[in-house]
Amino acid sequence: MPTGPPRPARGPSARPHTVATMTIPPAADQISAPRDGDARQTDAASEILSSVFGYDSFRGDQAAIIEQVASGGDAVVLMPTGGGKSLCYQIPALLRPGTGIVVSPLIALMADQVAALEAIGIRAAYLNSTLERHEAQAVEQQLLAGELDLLYMAPERLVLPRTLDLLRRAEIALLAIDEAHCVSQWGHDFRPDYLGLSVLAEAFPDVPRIALTATATEATHRELTERLRMERAEHFVSSFDRPNIQYRIEPKASPREQLLQLITTEHEGESGIVYCLSRKSVETTAQWLVDRGIAALPYHAGLDAAVRADHQERFLRADGLIIVATIAFGMGIDKPDVRFVAHLDLPKSIEGYYQETGRAGRDGLPSTAWMAYGLGDVVSQRRFIDQGEGSEQFKRNARSHLDAMLALCETVSCRRAQLLRYFGQEAEFASCGNCDTCLTPPRTWDATVAAQKLLSALIRLDRERGQKFGSGQVIDVLLGRENERSRQSRHEDLSVWGIGQELSEKEWRTTLRQLLARSIVEAQGDYGVLVPGPQAGPVLRSETTVELAVDRAPAKTQRTRTAHGGARSRAAESLEPAQREVFEVLRQWRTSVAKEKQIPPYMVFSDATLVGIVQARPDSVETLGQVSGVGAKKLAEYGEAVLESLSATS
Ligand code: ADP
Ligand code: ZN
Repeated sequence: MPTGPPRPARGPSARPHTVATMTIPPAADQISAPRDGDARQTDAASEILSSVFGYDSFRGDQAAIIEQVASGGDAVVLMPTGGGKSLCYQIPALLRPGTGIVVSPLIALMADQVAALEAIGIRAAYLNSTLERHEAQAVEQQLLAGELDLLYMAPERLVLPRTLDLLRRAEIALLAIDEAHCVSQWGHDFRPDYLGLSVLAEAFPDVPRIALTATATEATHRELTERLRMERAEHFVSSFDRPNIQYRIEPKASPREQLLQLITTEHEGESGIVYCLSRKSVETTAQWLVDRGIAALPYHAGLDAAVRADHQERFLRADGLIIVATIAFGMGIDKPDVRFVAHLDLPKSIEGYYQETGRAGRDGLPSTAWMAYGLGDVVSQRRFIDQGEGSEQFKRNARSHLDAMLALCETVSCRRAQLLRYFGQEAEFASCGNCDTCLTPPRTWDATVAAQKLLSALIRLDRERGQKFGSGQVIDVLLGRENERSRQSRHEDLSVWGIGQELSEKEWRTTLRQLLARSIVEAQGDYGVLVPGPQAGPVLRSETTVELAVDRAPAKTQRTRTAHGGARSRAAESLEPAQREVFEVLRQWRTSVAKEKQIPPYMVFSDATLVGIVQARPDSVETLGQVSGVGAKKLAEYGEAVLESLSATS
């Protein structure tokens, strides 16, 4: 089998858009001889996949990664959220003798991860600071007695001499380093404790290591390979496309109303995450939704730790709860049925945006990534950078991140293709058919003259009056609209007074936003006053033309979609109306079981599995067992009850 980093996903199981473009030079010792028993191992892995997890086939690179690690090799895995990273270490841990150690920074989620594994009959435990001393000791005993398949821990605990010593006395199947991008100092999730994980290479030279992340940039890949000492690893880089997520970015008019519209017309009763920039807007937005009868909870770093933990827990456990949060929320949230991620403010970078939106639809069912974005976002984010702390270099970085984000917002071509290109992956399609610009291609218009008028207004105001203004006053000058300020400063005497009456105020704001995004205009200082930007020259000299998009009316296109289907839930989108009722019955059954067992509903069965059951309409335990997501343990536990619920609907 070929080895050496990184190489494209292969074989018939690879998803259609799978590509690999990373180029880390292979080290000299990376040629490995073909291994005996690969075929047998693959069979054993498939057997576990179907009997324990209840799935029929591996996705993408899963089979190859499992083979690599199960046979003792190291692996670096870059796979998008929802791609199925967990199986890549869980199955090898079951195949190899001993316990798989999983390093994760997410202490708050370990209990749920372990519960999900126990629910399918895997012997799992965690060691972290939430355990009482005697509980931790019991887990250590289980480890030493070889009674665990998987053991989760935080990095700070793992690198303690005492823990390393414990692990040396146990039989270790593999070391999995989850969220491996946390070792990157330049990334947004840097955790100093991750740096300590480099000791594992020397401490356990014979134990296979696998590092996994959903962060796609080449810089992060390089850095984690180096810092985690993964010199011998085989690299698996998947396509970062998430075909089931519909990407939509719409102009901000009244953002909360737009959000409400999205929820009530497309995602009624479904789980979602709403991201806001400030703690205050998190609080007010959550309250605003609650006042309108939508179940929503706030989450931000300013809340008491216990409140935060409680809200996260409720989000994971409830069906159809919305969490309104700052970016503090979400890493490692592996709730598979988050149906939408909404941004009410512009994210600071595409990396952040893609991670956040990636939390939607891990189960592969249709989901929405939606953002409302407006002129104010551009002005305030630029100001935020200019006035923020940090070196010039830092600010330059922040500006280029923001520019890339703005370019995504303002693109008139496929958003998915642009996202993938940003991560160095060329899409195999020109139009994905599942983003707003593909679904309703925006109309464009030649805005060169409008841009020139606006620039002239800025120049005249500055030269002839020594004045710089924000958008409101500048637009008033273009429209020839009198106000206190313009009377005082005799703006009506300027040659640019009223030269822009062919556009409405709203159209000017749209135009201005797009000119700001392209650096033809720039906002400066405390008040975001407008000045000609670095790209203004060629426009003023008519050396280039400016093509701008006509803003769509918010959400109209999508509303008609749902009106036809009558579907208010995207999870059940693929089902016929009659089947949707069955889906609802199963969902209710699931809720009651989850309550009784005190586990999140998705741990009973995911939405994807419920949809599978509705479609298969099994009439026996055997046929139910063939549905994807129904493994042996769950079949034994819930089989009869599911069949009973189904027969009640016929
Ligand atoms: P990641 O950690 O990459 O975000 P997960 O490991 O949580 O993704 O997997 C996402 C979802 O896909 C989970 O619900 C998981 O059970 C499911 N899944 C993973 N692999 C497969 C597969 N081969 N077939 C069907 N479902 C799968
Ligand atoms: Zn598209």
